[in-house]
Amino acid sequence: MSNAFLKTPIEYLKGVGPARADVLRSESNIFTYADLLSFLPFRYIDRSVFIRIADIKDETALIQFKARLVKSQIVGSPRNQRFVVTVKDESGEIDLIWFRGLKWMVDKFKTDQEYIVFGKPSIFNGRWNISHPEIEIPSDQPIPLNETIRPIYNSTEKLKSKGLDYKGISKLMKTLLLNEKFNVPENLSPGILENFRLMDRQEAFISIHFPGNAELLKKAQTRLKFEELFFLQLRLMKQRYGRINKQKGHVFLKVGDYVNRFYHQQLTFNLTEAQKRVIREIRKDLGSGRQMNRLLQGDVGSGKTLVALMTMLIALDNGYQACLMAPTEILANQHFSTISGMLSELDIRVGLLTGSTKSGERKEILSDLMGGKLQILIGTHALIEENVRFRYLGIVIIDEQHRFGVAQRAKLWEKNQISPHILVMTATPIPRTLAMTLYGDLDSSVIDEMPPGRKPVVTRHICEHDRPKVYNFIRRKIREGRQVFIVYPLIQESETLDLKNLTEGFEHVIKEFPEPRYTVGMVHGQMKQHEKDREMERFLSGKSQILVATTVIEVGVDIPNASVMIIENAERYGLSQLHQLRGRVGRGSDQSYCLLMSNDILSAEAKKRIFTMVHTSDGFEIAETDLKLRGPGDIMGTQQSGILNLRIADIIKDEKILRAARNLASEIIHEDPDLVDEKNSLLSRHLIQMDKHQGNWGLIS
Ligand code: ADP
Ligand code: MG
Repeated sequence: MSNAFLKTPIEYLKGVGPARADVLRSESNIFTYADLLSFLPFRYIDRSVFIRIADIKDETALIQFKARLVKSQIVGSPRNQRFVVTVKDESGEIDLIWFRGLKWMVDKFKTDQEYIVFGKPSIFNGRWNISHPEIEIPSDQPIPLNETIRPIYNSTEKLKSKGLDYKGISKLMKTLLLNEKFNVPENLSPGILENFRLMDRQEAFISIHFPGNAELLKKAQTRLKFEELFFLQLRLMKQRYGRINKQKGHVFLKVGDYVNRFYHQQLTFNLTEAQKRVIREIRKDLGSGRQMNRLLQGDVGSGKTLVALMTMLIALDNGYQACLMAPTEILANQHFSTISGMLSELDIRVGLLTGSTKSGERKEILSDLMGGKLQILIGTHALIEENVRFRYLGIVIIDEQHRFGVAQRAKLWEKNQISPHILVMTATPIPRTLAMTLYGDLDSSVIDEMPPGRKPVVTRHICEHDRPKVYNFIRRKIREGRQVFIVYPLIQESETLDLKNLTEGFEHVIKEFPEPRYTVGMVHGQMKQHEKDREMERFLSGKSQILVATTVIEVGVDIPNASVMIIENAERYGLSQLHQLRGRVGRGSDQSYCLLMSNDILSAEAKKRIFTMVHTSDGFEIAETDLKLRGPGDIMGTQQSGILNLRIADIIKDEKILRAARNLASEIIHEDPDLVDEKNSLLSRHLIQMDKHQGNWGLIS
């Protein structure tokens, strides 16, 4: 019952042809009719709304107004001609400009005639104008009902050069929908459609591209959002169910010498109740005979590394190897030194493998790993390279998981016949809705308690004009024996600019804090590893009192004596990044401070971020606010890792739909885990299609 028509290559659609097909493929990933159909408008314009010329103030929005023609003329040299039409309404005047098709345009306009102008304003020479607007003469007839809401599609320069602006795309869409063979197969059973009062699928696609009215549009959107979230959940739950019931795991029942000696002889403090509970949860998984796939959430400083270490020791006690993967070299190095330090009395071989491991050393590590002599391997992405082979890999721990995609996780599983247990740790608390969508296939544990004696970090917002006070504060803290981080923002567009920003900052700091009284260090991402290490070492050992840095110090770094964190241009950071940075202090027993420096004038959103930081240290609250402010696509690199490939649903705004979809998916998988029941045949067929297309959204076939 798959639909051959929708699989037709896009160049066969009337009005497309080879040249347009090329740009549709390269610019928008539109290869087939189905791809075109699932290319959804990113917004809609209500054509019954007109604005006044004087109210134009936004360069990005498409607008519509009525105005009378004042004059029209061709200007510019013959090689560079423009046709400029000046129109006005009772509030003001604006120029409409055409660069192409002048001859054809010139006769079209009459002085004093009223026109409807529709287009995107921009500023040129200090004046508003609109280039290549759409023009209509108002008629007595109202706009036909099914054209009042106009879909706007994303276009690009290349698409536009082939006549495929949003209108061009809309035209293609119409051609497709009017084809007599056009037919979108349903993928939800009649029972589901009825229970949730969902529009049928074909109608939803028609209405999303050509909404008859606002209500139909809303129904179409709801239907497609539901479908998107439902299949995502259904797949996650099917995987999870399959894993829990079928995926065999190594059985680690023994708690032996390593764990006992570490726990009783090495550990200098008591575990928190939360740490104990999480370790119990993990032990239960490890003994179950099934593969563990657990997400461990815990705020910065809550003691996840220790849990990771104990988990690895359980694997070692049962004769297996363990590995720990970190997102950056600095962090991998730090894990390596903390962990080898903690294990130094225990006769355990720990290795470090990163991009900068020398080839001789690397060879030795790889061969010891294969030979089973190396028990714990710590490293970066280098760990998932093809030639890294373990003899008995029992468990994989991934720190700061959001930087690794699901695909990378899967790659680790492939390393053995029986998949190793997986523990994913994250310091960024994940809002519930995001966790459901992103990690619906993982079990989850939370460390919701800080080690005793931690004082919350005192956080203040400081405007530029109070900078001298900040410097005095730093001097005082250094006199008291404390150390200070000063962080400069990373502006991703330009690495050289970042460096300039940082080095200027560094010089400024040196002037304020001159030698020999003060020693200031600097680390940034473009330094060689050994230089970074040297600077970090100098700071760690107290030789330097101030460390000027970019956000390379964001994750993991643990320097208990550093009790002041100054964040320059704090308005430039996202909330979770600020939270991570603040987590670098407050690790020792002294009162710590985080000073958020900013310009005196701030955008509303920046104010909200800074306000949130000053008023709460609750990681979950911060994460929720972050998600609301930024939207999920932007958060935690989920876009790059391609996990959250949502086309229409928004997990914050559509939380209600998400919950309904999730409940339904759960019910169905519970009742029919393999989806073999006749009544679930549509669902299982659609899941197979999704997998074929590597998890892309609601593929139409
Ligand atoms: P996370 O990785 O969750 O940010 P870490 O594991 O790096 O946190 O722990 C932060 C600091 O707290 C480390 O110095 C660690 O030794 C210490 N720590 C961990 N657990 C405890 C505990 N139960 N009691 C006291 N200190 C602890
Ligand atoms: Mg950590």
